[in-house]
Amino acid sequence: MCPFELRPHHGLCLQFFRGEGYSPAFIENMTAMVAALSNNPQIKLVTGGDSICSTCPNGLADGKCTCDDKVLRYDEGVLALCDLSYSQTLSWVDFSQKIHTEILAKHLRQQVCGDCQWNHLCQE
Ligand code: SF4
Repeated sequence: MCPFELRPHHGLCLQFFRGEGYSPAFIENMTAMVAALSNNPQIKLVTGGDSICSTCPNGLADGKCTCDDKVLRYDEGVLALCDLSYSQTLSWVDFSQKIHTEILAKHLRQQVCGDCQWNHLCQE
């Protein structure tokens, strides 16, 4: 089993994480994720709750994000631009490179998640 399950848009969030977030537990988990991903593990792209959502203080209702419509749109934007699909596994470095070349380098991040509450923190 893939130890790292990631919602596709979290591949984008992780590029901008600078130690800020919803709560101390969330920040601690994100920091641990960034450290673990630096070892380039295989990751699996999932829909629904993942390794990051597990410490979100907003919680999950029936395994779904409380902002599910919005984050589903973000996930689908990342998948479409990176030509990836749910359940696909790939290395973190390969996923990260796709995020850079297909979204960030083309200045498309705002198109994917420009209405996120953290948008001001995630400027390229
Ligand atoms: S704006 Fe929100 S969804 Fe987009 S990368 Fe930043 S934290 Fe993630």
